Amino acid sequence: MPESEILLTRLQRLNQRDQRKGDFVLYWMQQAQRADYNDALEFAIQLANSLNQPLLAVFGLMDDYPEANERHYAFMLEGLHETQSTLRERGIQLVVQLGSPPHVALALGEQATTIICDRGYLRHQQQWRETLAKRATCAVIQVETDVIVPVETASDKQEIAARTIRPKIQKRIENYLQRPVARRAKKDSLGLRFNSYTGFGNRDRIFDLASALAQLKIDRSVAHSHYFKGGTSEARTLLHTFLCEKFDRYADKRNDPAVDVGSHMSPYLHFGQISSLEIALAVQQHRGADTARAAYLEEMIVRRELSMNFVHFQPDYDNFACLPTWAKATLHEHRHDRREHEYDLAQLGGANTHDRYWNGAMREMKITGYMHNYMRMYWGKKILEWSTTPEQAFDNALSLNNKYFLDGRDANSYANVAWLFGLHDRPFPERPIYGKVRSMTAGGLERKFDIEAYVQRIAALN
Ligand SMILES: Cc1cc2nc3c(=O)[nH]c(=O)nc-3n(C[C@H](O)[C@H](O)[C@H](O)COP(=O)(O)OP(=O)(O)OC[C@H]3O[C@@H](n4cnc5c(N)ncnc54)[C@H](O)[C@@H]3O)c2cc1C
Repeated sequence: MPESEILLTRLQRLNQRDQRKGDFVLYWMQQAQRADYNDALEFAIQLANSLNQPLLAVFGLMDDYPEANERHYAFMLEGLHETQSTLRERGIQLVVQLGSPPHVALALGEQATTIICDRGYLRHQQQWRETLAKRATCAVIQVETDVIVPVETASDKQEIAARTIRPKIQKRIENYLQRPVARRAKKDSLGLRFNSYTGFGNRDRIFDLASALAQLKIDRSVAHSHYFKGGTSEARTLLHTFLCEKFDRYADKRNDPAVDVGSHMSPYLHFGQISSLEIALAVQQHRGADTARAAYLEEMIVRRELSMNFVHFQPDYDNFACLPTWAKATLHEHRHDRREHEYDLAQLGGANTHDRYWNGAMREMKITGYMHNYMRMYWGKKILEWSTTPEQAFDNALSLNNKYFLDGRDANSYANVAWLFGLHDRPFPERPIYGKVRSMTAGGLERKFDIEAYVQRIAALN
């Protein structure tokens, strides 16, 4: 398919207003916080160039983003700092402005010909775009650039499991594995003047990271992770290391927490600092084991886009009601089963249970903002086993997930926490507490891996 046709499947007009006379085209950047492989940005540049206007980009930075704390803000600001500078090189000024994102976009949008925005699938992200579309006095166009196959192109309903969405994605994916053409803005916006500017950085300089972070009135209960630095270049460095040093072991060893051959792309994908398309193309072009390529693309495309499908089509994605009927029924039948150990949120968060493996996983999460994928499964399954009710377990798992993980508050967070309770999975032979929901045991970890090596690796973190 030609690029223009592919782009059409990513575009949506969010209101029926016309383009009007203005000083610039406005690109409201919120989900895709990057200067490369960004269809929304490229579309905005193309439009501005065709109108012979400059393109101004804006990011709305709010103090009270749902469940965000200093760890998330520090990582995000590192990324925005780099993006502000990269966009300058393309003749585009990125205003990082304090305030509620849609209101920030609306204020600058008063001088705009048209507003272009990227897309987010979570409830509040959709509501922000609805607010903008309703109140803006010019046309608002949304351009999807967060997944490879746009969610509604892949499927028109909530999918049951990876096996049902996989063929739908595979059927269309070839068309989408193309890099969007990168254009330079013909008329630069670096000298533009505009109203209501209370942001970070200005037309003459990039913002100062430390003072920006210090100015924000945010939850400081979770510290900056010293293990992950935000930004597109850091994501690319990690991707390069992954391809050169870990890739060939990915298919066989990805589940082994003692080895850790993961790419660590999830925080960068979450903040849109790297595009899944850029990663997919790099993995495709990398010479290396075909089994590793298939395993990696399965996770990064099929599983990740299944999560997007879930949050898009399931309005209750962040609570227990989202689970399949069979899972809710079996967990309900077993709600009064005796729990040998019970821990509340504070005890879990303290990483102070009777289980050393679990405590190690919780420590990894608290210190680094990341946890090995297999340990995430074990960690969550044990929360179900050790909580007074399955509903409490769901809330506690999601709350810890979103508080400590750099990649938390993502579509993947909601789909995977729900997976612990049966989403996208099948019934298993019945067991206490879990019912027919898949269970995991410490004995399983010991049989399959050198789990002591994982515990030692985590003990060395500080
Ligand atoms: C209980 C639980 C909670 C989780 N919470 C999150 C979360 O908050 N945010 C998050 O991004 N992921 C979450 N995951 C999914 C997965 O564990 C992480 O995406 C992965 O561990 C990130 O590490 P990586 O980038 O090194 O992964 P890699 O193995 O290198 O995989 C590459 C990419 O594929 C995608 N991917 C990998 N595994 C999955 C999966 N199971 N489902 C969907 N996509 C996947 C991710 O985008 C990941 O970055 C959770 C999984 C479980 C079981």
